Amino acid sequence: MSGAALSLRGVAKRYGETRVLDRVDLDVAAGEYLVLVGPSGCGKSTLLRCIAGLETLSAGELWIGERRVDPLPPRDRDVAMVFQSYALYPHMTVRENMAFPLRIRKAPRDAIAAAVAEAARMLDLEALLDRKPAALSGGQRQRVAMGRAIVRQPGVFLFDEPLSNLDATLRHHMRVELKRLHRRLGATIVHVTHDQVEALTLADRIVVLDRGVVQQVGSPRELYDTPSNTFVGTFVGAPSMNLVPAAGAAGQAVLEPRGGAAPVGLPTAAPLPDGRFVLGVRPSELAVTLDPAGAATVDVVESLGGEAMVHLEVAGHPMVALVREPFGGGPGDRVGLRAEVVHRFDPETTQRL
Ligand code: ADP
Repeated sequence: MSGAALSLRGVAKRYGETRVLDRVDLDVAAGEYLVLVGPSGCGKSTLLRCIAGLETLSAGELWIGERRVDPLPPRDRDVAMVFQSYALYPHMTVRENMAFPLRIRKAPRDAIAAAVAEAARMLDLEALLDRKPAALSGGQRQRVAMGRAIVRQPGVFLFDEPLSNLDATLRHHMRVELKRLHRRLGATIVHVTHDQVEALTLADRIVVLDRGVVQQVGSPRELYDTPSNTFVGTFVGAPSMNLVPAAGAAGQAVLEPRGGAAPVGLPTAAPLPDGRFVLGVRPSELAVTLDPAGAATVDVVESLGGEAMVHLEVAGHPMVALVREPFGGGPGDRVGLRAEVVHRFDPETTQRL
């Protein structure tokens, strides 16, 4: 089995006056693992449901391979969706649940048996085939839901927060499983999540959505290294990127003070051009040194074991730095800062400079 290409052209969705998706253009390559992220209510599920055919488009076209599918009912689109809730039939065994999509398509009995056996082997479900969902753990139910999608050999898999009902350990385990499965199947996958780590670890490319508008599409590396605006800058990467209004002067960033504080020069690894901008520095790229003459003050230190999250105040702005333990500083201590990597954004448009 191998996946099909998926293309969204000017896809829009409105509910009355509410614009939920605004002219989304997206090309997903055959075999690509695409992850959709964005804040709650930004339209992720709606986009997935539009592709599945559970919602009709207000405008635009959907293509899977060489076929335009938006006029087609869900069953004719060559997609399989896996829901957060698993949506298994409680009265059916695992085997019957997995066979169901093929049975309603009237596939031959031996083809169904072969497809179920193959999916069960892939997902390590062989020992559980005669159980009912009630006798399965959350992770096992999730695998059955995956199996039910796999037996259909769809051109495109649609995953709607498939791991968010699992505990942290199981989620990590299933994340690795998904990666392996993707490699084995060569499947095209569109996966919606609110989990940063899931997005960064699984995706070939990530789509960042905000209020129904695509903000950036790129590899995890591209989004992390060159966010196209402040929204993507703060949304991708945890802890979140620090943003402070600043101006370039003599190669360094001078932080614009707030609340009666004095301006502070923040040394940067590379010289900066003159002019005003919003300075973006990731917590892991803000170097901190204990220095009684330093311009920043430690507010709170959260120790995470090997690292500590240091909450600081500088020129009246809160900033966060991620430092290696032992840090040695505490609340009220003065520290010096240095930005190892700097992002600059336009103060008006918020776009990357
Ligand atoms: P996400 O999955 O990113 O959390 P959704 O796609 O579920 O976001 O929802 C996007 C927006 O569309 C939300 O503001 C939601 O209130 C609105 N919405 C979703 N379904 C409907 C509907 N049937 N009628 C009106 N508004 C809706």
